[in-house]
Amino acid sequence: MSDLTGRVRGPLAPSTAVERPLSIDDVEIHGGPLGRWQQINREASIPLGLEQMEKSGAAPNLRLAAGEAGGAFQGYRFQDSDLYKQLEAVAWEHSRHPDDAYRSFVAGSAALLARAQRPDGYLNSHYQVVKPDRIFAELEYSHEMYCAGHLFQAAVAAARAGLGEELLGVARRFADLLVRRFLVDGDDGIDGHAEVETALVELYRLTGERPYLELARKLIDNRGKGLIKSTGMGPLYAQDHLPVREADTAVSHAVRQLYLEAGGVDVAVETADADLLASSVRRWEDLVATKTSITGGHGSRHDGEAFGERYELPPDRAYNESCAAIASIHWNWRLLLATGHGRYADLIERTLYNAFAASTSADGTRFFYVNPLQRRADLFEDAYLGRRREWFACACCPPNIMRLVSSLGHYVATAGDESVSVHQYVPGVIRAGGAVLDVETDYPWHGRVRFTVRSAPGGAWTLRLRVPAWSTAGDLTPGADGYAAIRREWQAGDTFTLDLDLTPRIVRPHRRIDALRGCAAIERGPLVYCFEQIDQDTELDDLALAPGAALRTVERDLPGIGRTVLVEAGALRLPPAPPRGLPYTTGADAAPAARATATAVPYYQWDNRDGGVMRVWMPLA
Ligand SMILES: [Zn+2]
Repeated sequence: MSDLTGRVRGPLAPSTAVERPLSIDDVEIHGGPLGRWQQINREASIPLGLEQMEKSGAAPNLRLAAGEAGGAFQGYRFQDSDLYKQLEAVAWEHSRHPDDAYRSFVAGSAALLARAQRPDGYLNSHYQVVKPDRIFAELEYSHEMYCAGHLFQAAVAAARAGLGEELLGVARRFADLLVRRFLVDGDDGIDGHAEVETALVELYRLTGERPYLELARKLIDNRGKGLIKSTGMGPLYAQDHLPVREADTAVSHAVRQLYLEAGGVDVAVETADADLLASSVRRWEDLVATKTSITGGHGSRHDGEAFGERYELPPDRAYNESCAAIASIHWNWRLLLATGHGRYADLIERTLYNAFAASTSADGTRFFYVNPLQRRADLFEDAYLGRRREWFACACCPPNIMRLVSSLGHYVATAGDESVSVHQYVPGVIRAGGAVLDVETDYPWHGRVRFTVRSAPGGAWTLRLRVPAWSTAGDLTPGADGYAAIRREWQAGDTFTLDLDLTPRIVRPHRRIDALRGCAAIERGPLVYCFEQIDQDTELDDLALAPGAALRTVERDLPGIGRTVLVEAGALRLPPAPPRGLPYTTGADAAPAARATATAVPYYQWDNRDGGVMRVWMPLA
């Protein structure tokens, strides 16, 4: 088995790992939902994003900074980061589908950034144009290092995707400035929004420049020392309330916390810091058990885009920012590579097919910022609820979504010692550890996954297949790590079939989640389902799932959605709630009026039709 670590063309290339990541182009995705998402990303989302780089001010702001244009700065102080994420999306897309338009976008952007960059390496259009006297003076809310981190990740992507090193040159000049100021000269500042830590580690992995890693470690170790003085939101908002190693639960701004975790795991892996890794695992266990939506979404509060208290998981007001789902996938991927444990791949799958996939419309032209589990008829006025939108004033989510979709192949499989591990089931080809595997499957609509060995390295090696926690796998028994291991002297032409159980299931919440007490949801395979008004023949809000509800699956091709599998559940239609007086009574609930059927659609496919009422959690009659 060959070691792929040193030449990974993908977002993450740790120098040591239990499971070694593959290059994006080592995995071909030929259809299924992931293939469909990549197709619409290329055909609809990325073109729309490229247009927005001009419209939203991201590129014009840099022309201002370069002294090449007049006018006013547009947008937020972190507007540059939209361009960086867009560049990363284009770079990964280019690595699978080379395109001259992508090449010239990256080259043109890199040249513009180089012209906008100050001679000392500093680069941030907002501070150069609007507040040149406040550079590095208000790190608690400036997002200067946050933007730098996204620049570094874009530059790493462009270099690994074969798009030249001009962007990398820009990134390194800025990273060298950060090293001089915040490592060598001893400035103890940290950015209020974590992100640069994980980016610095990847820049180290690409270039071998150890000071980038040392700075990342310092930034992790400096958080929680009270160095952030005035975010206006208190120290919790920037996870500055406790040293990272001592914190036992995820708090406040969800995206900041989750990017901080990704950076912490990266630093832990590269510095063999078992204590730092263990602290991240401890918070993961608490977060999964007490603060995670059924969709994998994170952040139950609009106020501060924040995690709530333990078990505070309201379905209607759930914030579940699209970026939080992405950050969670990034963090779980790092934990999976570091430990080899399938529970992280399980959560990646749940988050990917639900909280993340729901962020984008079926045609790839509209996006959610907030991903609640219920929409009432009268919520349409709220800025970030209601329907998906083409873009946002604060547009962190759309280009973040695009960079993950264009790199999805990176998250499918890994190579280990004499093993190939498959974490996500998609039709296509996997090249890992000297083996080439063809994968045929109609997952997640059907549970059969068939592997054919196209070519194999000599000798015995192990095919490790993740058995999701919700499934059996025929005669296969997964180990404690969640993987079934099949060790053989595999030969070209050998086949192996995995059968996962996609029987729909009724899921109940833990009793401590007050907002969900008395409710149930439906899952099938990795998909969480929801009920939309358009699929019911009566008012959705008057339906309740019947005790022991029978569940029936129906395959459909629906206008606006495309291919799907609906689940029909036995339900009861309750008498309409009385329209007058207080909605509280000392009397018994009214008797159910009639038997009915409630029809559920995969949550990720919601809001592609009439924009009516939706709920994931249904009351039990
Ligand atoms: Zn976002």
